[in-house]
Amino acid sequence: MDHQELNQPYLPTEPHHLNISTSTFGCKVNTYDSGLIEKNLFQSGHFVNDTQSSKKVHILNTCAVTAEATKEAVKLIKKLKKDSPEDLVVITGCSAQVDTKFFTDEADADLVVANSHKSQLPDILNQFLKGEIKDKVFKSNIFKKEDLEIGGGIQSEHTRSFLKIQDGCNSFCSFCIIPYARGKSRSISVTELSNRVIELYEAGHREVVLTGVHIGDYADETRKLEDLVEALLIRTPMPRFRLSSLEPIEISDKLFELYQDPRMCPHFHMSIQSANTKVLKDMKRKYSQTEVRNTLIKISEKLKNPFVGMDVIAGFPTESHEDFEDTYFALADLPWTRLHVFPYSERSGTRAADLMTQVPYHQRKERARRLRDLSQSRYQQWGQNQVGLRQKALILKKFTARAHGVTREYCNIKFSDGDLLKAGQNLGQELNVRLGQFHWNSGSSQDGHFDAELV
Ligand code: SF4
Repeated sequence: MDHQELNQPYLPTEPHHLNISTSTFGCKVNTYDSGLIEKNLFQSGHFVNDTQSSKKVHILNTCAVTAEATKEAVKLIKKLKKDSPEDLVVITGCSAQVDTKFFTDEADADLVVANSHKSQLPDILNQFLKGEIKDKVFKSNIFKKEDLEIGGGIQSEHTRSFLKIQDGCNSFCSFCIIPYARGKSRSISVTELSNRVIELYEAGHREVVLTGVHIGDYADETRKLEDLVEALLIRTPMPRFRLSSLEPIEISDKLFELYQDPRMCPHFHMSIQSANTKVLKDMKRKYSQTEVRNTLIKISEKLKNPFVGMDVIAGFPTESHEDFEDTYFALADLPWTRLHVFPYSERSGTRAADLMTQVPYHQRKERARRLRDLSQSRYQQWGQNQVGLRQKALILKKFTARAHGVTREYCNIKFSDGDLLKAGQNLGQELNVRLGQFHWNSGSSQDGHFDAELV
């Protein structure tokens, strides 16, 4: 049955009263998509979420960035089916698109709705439950996908919000499966996003993180990422913006200028993956060590106290010992704050995984350990350098174990005693603080936090 028939209008009947739970794997974009799935399910009129209902539906929004990520989802399905075989398990997300057979052959999922059909999940599930469709898998060529799901649920209890501006990717880096899971790059228009940011502001959000699969690919006709950022600064009252992952060559001069606006938090997450030109070429990245160097130096010169986190892969198949040393010493010599280090792992369906030469796993781990050690001392030093500084902290509406607030410079802060009381009276507001002692379990992948006092 192809999806043309699925869209046939049909007589409204009693909505399904179900106990629906969603499990999200992977990145912030998937978290955003899960919010969208839930919103669409309940706005479709087909479903009422009834936590007392014995009829349970588990929706798994999967990630395929590594083979392990897909295996995690398969493991969960087997557990769910073992614990309560009558429950319905629906698989969607990136693994549903690129690892479909794992869910039909290995794990007994009831319904597989690949990314190509994700926006139709409510209709497919409704008709599946009514026995109107017998197919188990809904999937088509992801590169034909033009639409882009927008407008995830607004969670008014949140202070900071991730806003998806783009999906898909046109780069095809040799180690990455994402373009095959999410299709070509598609962007939401500047106008829709401006309206969305105003909605988020009216709902009490005071920071927006622009996110996507490859936001550097953002395009609304002739307008690019920097034009979107400029429009959001002009058209909306949102007091704080942060950008998620960017490549070194995607911070244009115009974007750098926009960072002079205090509403742009001086926080960069850069996916450099390596700092060795030969390895970057083999990864099919569009920049060399020179661009990495120039961008990091420019950030440190143009912005006051920036936080720069970077993703690096250790042990890419063609990375020789000398290539790694080149990356290591280049990074040791450059300004940044923290590294997120990933030992290379083969992802079937990518060109890199088929390369004859692969770096032995113990060497990948050893290279990753050295980069993490480098990052630890750098992050610890950054923490010490913040002590005593005055910064603007956004007080979170929901305090977490790690933070009562976050500064523009990406410092998690926690208050004590009287200040905690006062902060509790200013939830969702920005207050001036002085940073005290830095607390961080050396080696932990979690961010540290600072004691803070109101000033
Ligand atoms: S830019 Fe490269 S690594 Fe990033 S999503 Fe696209 S293909 Fe994957």
